[in-house]
Order: sequence, then C-alpha cells, then structure tokens
Amino acid sequence: MNRKSIYYKSKINIIITSVIILCGVIISMLMALNILKIKDSYPAVNSARLVTKDALDNIEDNFTGKNFNSLDKFNFKIKVLDLKGNILYNSYDNKSGVEDIASSIGYDMNFSSLNDGLIKYSSPVIVNGMQVGNSVFYIKKGMLFKNNDTWDMLIIFLPTLISFLIVLCRELYSIHTIKNEFVKPVAELNISADAIIKGDFNKKIIYNSNTEIGKFCASFEMMRDELKDSIERERRLEDSRKELITCISHDLRTPIASIKAYSDGILDGVAKDPDSIKRYLNVISKKTEVLTKLINDLFEHCQIELNKLSINKTEIYSGEFLKSIAYELSLEFENSTQQFEALDMPNVLINIDKLRIEQVIYNLIQNAKKYTPPDGKIVFGAEIEDDYLKIFVKDNGYGIKSEDIPFIFDKFYRGEKARSTDKGGSGLGLSICKYIVENHGGQIFVESGSSGSNFYFVIPKV
Ligand code: ADP
Repeated sequence: MNRKSIYYKSKINIIITSVIILCGVIISMLMALNILKIKDSYPAVNSARLVTKDALDNIEDNFTGKNFNSLDKFNFKIKVLDLKGNILYNSYDNKSGVEDIASSIGYDMNFSSLNDGLIKYSSPVIVNGMQVGNSVFYIKKGMLFKNNDTWDMLIIFLPTLISFLIVLCRELYSIHTIKNEFVKPVAELNISADAIIKGDFNKKIIYNSNTEIGKFCASFEMMRDELKDSIERERRLEDSRKELITCISHDLRTPIASIKAYSDGILDGVAKDPDSIKRYLNVISKKTEVLTKLINDLFEHCQIELNKLSINKTEIYSGEFLKSIAYELSLEFENSTQQFEALDMPNVLINIDKLRIEQVIYNLIQNAKKYTPPDGKIVFGAEIEDDYLKIFVKDNGYGIKSEDIPFIFDKFYRGEKARSTDKGGSGLGLSICKYIVENHGGQIFVESGSSGSNFYFVIPKV
C-alpha cells in the first residue's frame, strides 16, 4: 500500500490514536490500583499515629486518675481499656463492661478499615515505661489521608487526560495537514476548473506533489496545459483555415486572371511576333503550374482526411532513384539564378512508393526555392544513419521563425514569411509530406534559423 495515501495515513492514525488512549487508560487503572493499595497499607499507620498522638498523651496522663472527660474534645472516637479488657472510656459505642483484648484490639493488625468508613487504630497505653492499658481510636478516613478523593481522582485520570490531550493535538495537526494537503488543493482545483469552463487556462494550482491529491493536481495541471496548447493550436488552425479561404480565392483568382489576360492578349493580337507569343504562353504555363499545385494539394488533403491517399510500396535501391531526381532538379535550376547542388547519394535497399517520396522531395525543393532569395543556394543530399536513410534539402534562405516551427507540419499552417508576402501556397504541402513519410515508417524534421532551413526525413532501410 502507498505510504503516502490518505487511506494508509488514516489507518495508521487510527492505530496510533487507539494505542495512545489505551496506554492512558491502562496507566490510569494501574495508578488507581496503587492508590487504593497505599490507602490501606502500612504507611497510613504513621498518619494515624500522628493524628492520635495528643489523645494518647492525654490518656497516659490521666490513666492513673481514670478521669478521661477531656478526651471528649477529640474529633474521633476513643475506647480506653485496662490490661484485663475492662472498658474505662468509650465514645465509640458507649458500651461498658469487659472486652476480649485479643480479638478487639489485635496489635498484630493494629490498623484496619471498618465498614462505616472509619479506620481503627490501636495503641498500648504506657505509663512510667510499663503498659497499663490499651487505647483504640476510630478515625474518619479523611483525617488520615491528606489527599482527598477529588485529588486522587485527578491523579488517577491524569494519564487518560494526557492521552486525550495528545490525541487532541494530533487531531488538530491532522486537520491542519488535511487543510493544506487536501482542502486547499481541492479548492484550487475548483477555482481552476471554473476558470477553464470560462475559457481561462492560466489559473495554476499550487500543490505538494508528494501527496495523493498532489499527484492528481499534477495530472490536472498537465491536462490544463494540454488543453491550453490544443485550444491555442485549434485557434491558430482556425485562423489559418479562415486565412486559407481568403488565400485560395486570391491564389486561384490571381493566376486565372493572368491566364485570361495573356490568352486574351494572344487572341486579340497584342502579342504579334512568335517571341511575344512564346513569352505569353510561358506565363500562362507557369500560372497553370501554380494552379495545378494548389488544386493537387487540396485534393490530396481531402484524400488524407478521407483516408484514401494510396501508398504503393516496392523495394528499390536508393542510389539510382535519388540520382535521377537530382538530375531532373538540376535541369529545373538551369535557368534559375538560385544555385543547386546535389551530393553523392548512398545506395541502400528501401521499401517505398517512388512517386510519393518523389513528391515529398519536390515539395521540399519547391519550398526551398520559394523561401530562398534569388542568389541563394539549395543543397539536396542523402546519408545513412543507423537503420535509416536520411534525405535532406538545405537552403540558405529566410529561415522559419522559432514560434512557427512547432506548427510548420500542421495542415493549413503558413509561416510568417508566407503570410506576410505574396508567396501563395495552401499551407498543406508539409502536412502531406509528414503523412507520406510517416506512412513509410519514418519521420520528418526541420532545423531552421536566420541562416536558412534544413528539412530532412528518415525512412527505414530494408
Ligand atoms: P505552403 O504551401 O504555404 O508553402 P507548406 O506546408 O509547404 O505550405 O509550408 C508551410 C509553411 O512552412 C510555409 O508557409 C512557410 O512559412 C514555411 N516553410 C516551408 N519550407 C520553408 C523553407 N524552406 N524556408 C522557410 N520557410 C519554409
């Protein structure tokens, strides 16, 4: 069982409380027995001796004259006998006559309790060094025992009282602990939950992570952070989606308008000579490419959403495949001011959908072209990393803002550069790349800064 759990602590608390109370009660009982024993025991004889001393002196002084009237003043009862048992004075039961000394006095037990709450104490009467008689005193218990019953009771119950006080202190401490470890965090949880309902995800909870409720608070905090992130992400996506509709209409309208203007130019005879017609047709072809890419992205995005994007893998060697892409790309860059470099390609067996992986590489290259200035450089290469083939596209372009990087592979997300300039694009390209790479058992990454970006993905070797 978890030692920090509330259940465990309560169980231990109940055991400790019971033990403390039990100890207190046992000690009280032992003390009660002891006090009762002391009351009836020999040391009380000393007390009786002291109480009756004056009366005994009085008896001894008056024994010869047998005048015991002065004994009436004592506040205990007295019986005076001579050595034969004749009663000379009796304020106890006023009887006269003779008594059996052996049974009524009993020196061997010259101290005893009587039923009527009196203590009987006997003492020989000595005159001139000789025993001349016997005296018997009947004293109220209260006179012998200085400690009265209330005091005794207090002493007896003191251990029980102390044990209850200890338990009380422990309980007060427990209440304090429960307040700090349970009530307060629960109240904070409540406040935070209320805030979340109202859309405020910033109410943090202060808690002690060692307690059970603390662990719950930690999970709650994780959930709050997660919720905050996903709402933030959702908001960004929603913004992107709204922006996308504006952009798509704009991006579709612009090339369509150009295509119409240039084809009208040809039809109306504005472009007369073959050179002008060729230039016009070139523009029309470029604008058609943009339109095609946009429409393709949207189409593939819909296929992914519907789980219908097909990936048909075959085993091939990477060398030939990558070299042919590099060759095609180098042709594409022949008329570009941007520099293109293709590195040596490793030759390993991979299981891929050639068209889809080609699509990923082309997308990365197109992005690199788009976000790199005209005099920039783009490098295409691949290398082996453990069980994976790593394919990369590096550029020395504008780079990606650090706050955009976590969202770059999200669908419809367009970075600051794409948003602030007229770069076109749907924000779907990288999310489609991610989908394709992950469906090959790989992963796609980006490292980007002010000196450019490095997009790379890994796919497993066979
Ligand atoms: P888009 O069609 O808008 O380019 P992508 O999904 O391909 O959509 O890219 C998402 C965003 O990533 C882009 O809007 C851009 O801000 C950023 N991006 C992608 N590639 C690069 C790059 N090589 N350099 C700088 N930014 C890039």
